[in-house]
Amino acid sequence: MNADNETRRPAAGAGGGPVLRCEEARILLMGYIDSELQPAEVRRIEDHLAVCVPCRREEQGFRKLEEMTEEMLSEELPTLDIDAAWETIYRRLERSVGWLLLSAGLILLLGYTGWNMLDEFFLNPEVPLIVRLGAGGGLSGVIVLLVSIGREVLTKHRSERYREVKR
Ligand SMILES: [Zn+2]
Repeated sequence: MNADNETRRPAAGAGGGPVLRCEEARILLMGYIDSELQPAEVRRIEDHLAVCVPCRREEQGFRKLEEMTEEMLSEELPTLDIDAAWETIYRRLERSVGWLLLSAGLILLLGYTGWNMLDEFFLNPEVPLIVRLGAGGGLSGVIVLLVSIGREVLTKHRSERYREVKR
């Protein structure tokens, strides 16, 4: 841009050599702003920025842009509350495990009771058939009701979770 830049050329491979040309400074500028340069390169671009107003302006523009980008990113982050999300997941997991244990326990108890009753009651010829049929019908009704209630609880549980995700 000015006469200075045309007369001064960087010495090859010499860190801290002559002041950079503007084109080279612009290439290094992004790395400089992101603190990704070698110390020697940092020194050279800082030497250039000290004497070159257009590149300094360019640097300020980049820094401003970076600031705005960071602001935009940090504005979006608080809506994603990671701690709260994890707590929700843990709570759901605890409840799921609780339901699983409860179901497993009930199934074991019912199975054990049913097996014993089958042997001692339903297959016992000494008990009148009408009593066995009546008891069998009543027991089946209780099981169907239990399954129905359990399904309703599970469905409600699931739709609650869905609502929470949607928010
Ligand atoms: Zn320059």
